[in-house]
Amino acid sequence: MNLGILLSRAAQSFPDRPAISYGKNTYCNYRDLANRAASLAGSMQEDLALKIDDRIGLFMTNCPEFLEVFHGVLHAGMTTLPINNKLHEKELAYILDDARASALFVTKDLVEKAESAIEQIGTNVKLVVVGGKEYKKFSNGLPIPIVHRTQDNLAWLFYTSGTTGQPKGAMLTHRNLWDATLNYFVDVDRVPFNGSAIHAAPMSHGSGFYGLPHLAVGAQQVIPESGGFSPEEIYELISCHSEVSMFAAPTMVNRFVEHDGDANTQNLRTITYGGGPMYVEDCKRALDRLGPKLIQIYGQGESPMTITVLPREDHIAENNPRFEERLASVGYAQSVVEVIVTDADNNALPSGEIGEVLVRGDVVMKGYWEKPEVSSETLADGWLHTGDMGVFDEDGYLTLKDRSKDLIISGGSNIYPREIEEILLRHKSVSECAVIGRPHKDWGEEVVAFISLVEGHTIDIEELERLCLENIARFKRPKEYRLAESLPKNNYGKIVKRELRDQLEDESE
Ligand code: AMP
Repeated sequence: MNLGILLSRAAQSFPDRPAISYGKNTYCNYRDLANRAASLAGSMQEDLALKIDDRIGLFMTNCPEFLEVFHGVLHAGMTTLPINNKLHEKELAYILDDARASALFVTKDLVEKAESAIEQIGTNVKLVVVGGKEYKKFSNGLPIPIVHRTQDNLAWLFYTSGTTGQPKGAMLTHRNLWDATLNYFVDVDRVPFNGSAIHAAPMSHGSGFYGLPHLAVGAQQVIPESGGFSPEEIYELISCHSEVSMFAAPTMVNRFVEHDGDANTQNLRTITYGGGPMYVEDCKRALDRLGPKLIQIYGQGESPMTITVLPREDHIAENNPRFEERLASVGYAQSVVEVIVTDADNNALPSGEIGEVLVRGDVVMKGYWEKPEVSSETLADGWLHTGDMGVFDEDGYLTLKDRSKDLIISGGSNIYPREIEEILLRHKSVSECAVIGRPHKDWGEEVVAFISLVEGHTIDIEELERLCLENIARFKRPKEYRLAESLPKNNYGKIVKRELRDQLEDESE
């Protein structure tokens, strides 16, 4: 199946229904959206000389054009490459280079970053500014019929940071996304035809995926004019759209709930949260405020939004003696996947035992882009090795324990310590360092760097701060730098992060 068909079908069957709203107002209906996607596809072929299977970057702050380009790329039989708009230009350059992207569509606010990234890699990536003159011409250009693709062709190249510090492109096929889309209706939520999905979270990630089930049934997608998440604006949008659902990281849910205890949420249907741990107290507070409107999912770029689900019912089953345990879990396996927990030798473990979470099913990525070795390791024996540690209870509910790969999740964004450590180690006075997540009330976790210096050296912390700002996205930089004589090591000479984490936890008690 070609994912692009979802839009052609919606345009044929519900041409006049609103497809996109920008803020409170309708931006276009399904007929217009499909026409623009077909015109953009034609211009990509003709004017930009792009070819089938080319990777086309979308480096954008949330905006209606994201959807036009996304569907234009699918219509043209090319691969979408949505990139987190918060990334540093060096990170953007790495992804464009690694994916060998042929073109990049950017919003005006990101043009400078994009130009500098393209200059760094020195290849010919065609840059198109959405909303600009050229873009307008392209979106009114000569339309082409949808280009045929098979289910194993790539639809979305999803860059997720790797433990090695370098991001890796999870290859998501038309089939992966098709199954993930249909499974939304089975396990997550029903979408009424007058439903509205508000994109308050980045469309390059989870929110973008959840646009697809809405498109499939001819519901609308709403883009906040701020291009991001502002609780005040979201409350306003909820009041003027119907049957609203929204994907949000746990930190967003907390900010949303804290913002205004009296605002009317009658039109809010569902908040699906995930991407990082939600504390039980926060979850209860959100339920008190919003009522039965929460659903949790656990997923990964490698199995998009589709590992486990904690449905609405479990959020309100207060009489269940295991209610709190349920809220602390990530729910049970979604219908399209098998999920098991294994020991270090890949033996499946019974309930009650902690091990690595493995996933198998048609939503699991094809592999990592041009990384056959890491792909076969991660997909060994046909199972996706998530790198997350978890434990099942006897009812099949999974609780995540620790992230085996020391991933830090701050404000719903993944931060891989190794990436920051590598930057800090560039400083001539830094001998060793370890980057750890410290629990944080609002952000889930915040980054702390432990550093030991080369003998006889001193250091100005501002130099470290500058080094980070020059090389990585702002949100990844440490909020605290701690100098230590030496870092704790095990018998193999490896730094034992657990001890550092315990130290931070002891302090916060
Ligand atoms: P990403 O590939 O950016 O979607 O990040 C995936 C990682 O986020 C997972 O491997 C988990 O470690 C974490 N994660 C995702 N959903 C949840 C959840 N509901 N609860 C706790 N951690 C989660």
